[in-house]
Amino acid sequence: MKYQIAIDGPSGAGKSSLAKALARRLGFIYVDTGALYRTIGYYCATNGANTACAEEVVAKLPEITLSLAYENGSQTVILNGTSVGDKIRTPEMSMHASNVSKIPEVRAFLLDTQRNIAEENSVIMDGRDIGTVILPKAQVKIFLVSSFEKRALRRVKEMREKGIEVSYEETLADMIARDRQDSEREVAPAVPAEDAVHLDNSELTLEETVDAAMAIITSRTDLV
Ligand code: C5P
Repeated sequence: MKYQIAIDGPSGAGKSSLAKALARRLGFIYVDTGALYRTIGYYCATNGANTACAEEVVAKLPEITLSLAYENGSQTVILNGTSVGDKIRTPEMSMHASNVSKIPEVRAFLLDTQRNIAEENSVIMDGRDIGTVILPKAQVKIFLVSSFEKRALRRVKEMREKGIEVSYEETLADMIARDRQDSEREVAPAVPAEDAVHLDNSELTLEETVDAAMAIITSRTDLV
């Protein structure tokens, strides 16, 4: 039996930390779908396409081959044969990712990569449309939310740990702009699935969030 656990929510809500911890605990594969959109944004931005222009982005798609690889349990995206590593993690690439993710052709291009991996493995997948579009039959759907302040603080800390210096104000402004673009877009907007359980971790530590998510998982599956 294959399990599918979908974790959606806005940027900086702590989806990837939660999903990684759950994947470790359950022995499932963690799939970070945002990395796929980031990689397309990265390729376009570094190969002369304006990510705000759908035609320019769509024209680049035939040049792109993407796959996911796992090194010591961590996911990396292989773009045309080479790992992209952390180059896709800058604030600039976040906005390029959000720009390309509005384009229906880009979403269609990434659909099979995401669904195929869930066909062959039990997965915990995080993103914006996992419960609504990619894995509508997931046994567990969690919509993770958090206050703007907590989300921006987490993102600043995460960036600093990667050696990327960003200000709190700039991070908060970027986050608000990206959230608006992601939740108001026409295709696959970042909204909760009807059967998603909302989890607000504004006042929870990561450990408490993992425990709360495990309680949701055990209530909906035979996993313990
Ligand atoms: O999750 P992350 O911040 O890495 O995602 C980067 C961007 O990719 C998001 O702002 C969103 O626009 C897009 N995305 C998406 N659907 C997903 C995952 C990410 O549209 N399933």
